[in-house]
Amino acid sequence: MKHHKVRVSEGVKTIAVPAIDALNAVVHGFSTRVGGVSVEPFSAMNLALNLGDDNDRVEINRRLFVKALGAGKPDLYTIRQTHGTRIVQIDDARIPAVEYRQAQGDALTTNLPGIAIGVLTADCVPILLIDPVQRAVAAVHAGRQGSLLRIVTHVVRRMHDAFGTEPAHLRAAVGPGIEACCYDIGEKLARHVRESFPRAEPFLQEEDGAYFLDLRGMNHTDLLAAGLREAHVHHVDLCTACEPQTFYSYRRSRGGQTGRMMSLVMLKEQ
Ligand SMILES: [Zn+2]
Repeated sequence: MKHHKVRVSEGVKTIAVPAIDALNAVVHGFSTRVGGVSVEPFSAMNLALNLGDDNDRVEINRRLFVKALGAGKPDLYTIRQTHGTRIVQIDDARIPAVEYRQAQGDALTTNLPGIAIGVLTADCVPILLIDPVQRAVAAVHAGRQGSLLRIVTHVVRRMHDAFGTEPAHLRAAVGPGIEACCYDIGEKLARHVRESFPRAEPFLQEEDGAYFLDLRGMNHTDLLAAGLREAHVHHVDLCTACEPQTFYSYRRSRGGQTGRMMSLVMLKEQ
């Protein structure tokens, strides 16, 4: 079953999960590289600051993205992602988003309505978590390192401790990321994956001496192990490296300069 829906609003292409929209609790969406005002090699909808793109253009793109989602004009909270497991909790709406831009972490969480939180990716797996009962949300950046460190497990636990979230109530929207088709890793790394992720075997396929890693599958397993119901885990089943017209891909750019997509979630005012 297809879990996602593509929308185009004034030239800005975004992706959403209808099952999340149906909760009527949040505004959410995943950006693409379509729309926006950035030029090569960031064309055209780069949403990450300080990557080498013109930050004024990034600010315009961020406004265009938020507008395309129909989110109004919220303050947009992002942090400096470091491939770790640190979680930044936004619990005071009086502290503006700009104060958090240098804060290090790989997940944001809040129970404040009207606060838009976002993570930036170009191959790494973005995961949005929504608790419609206790009304809390999280945005998670799960790359290879974060996935091996089980970041999503840490975030579910934090939401439980901070907001009383029951994992069985949580909904997950797992966005576009690099899939096993395009994610071959060396033997040394494959060994490291096996050592750090006890149940890695199904997510590591060997083919003619090459190893292909399934980050989406790893995070899916982690979400279920953390207590989410399978019916509540929705995937945008698209590979960032397979679709260069739609997505930025760090891998495809061969570690060169490229933009980042944003995955955003915001609690609606009740
Ligand atoms: Zn692919």
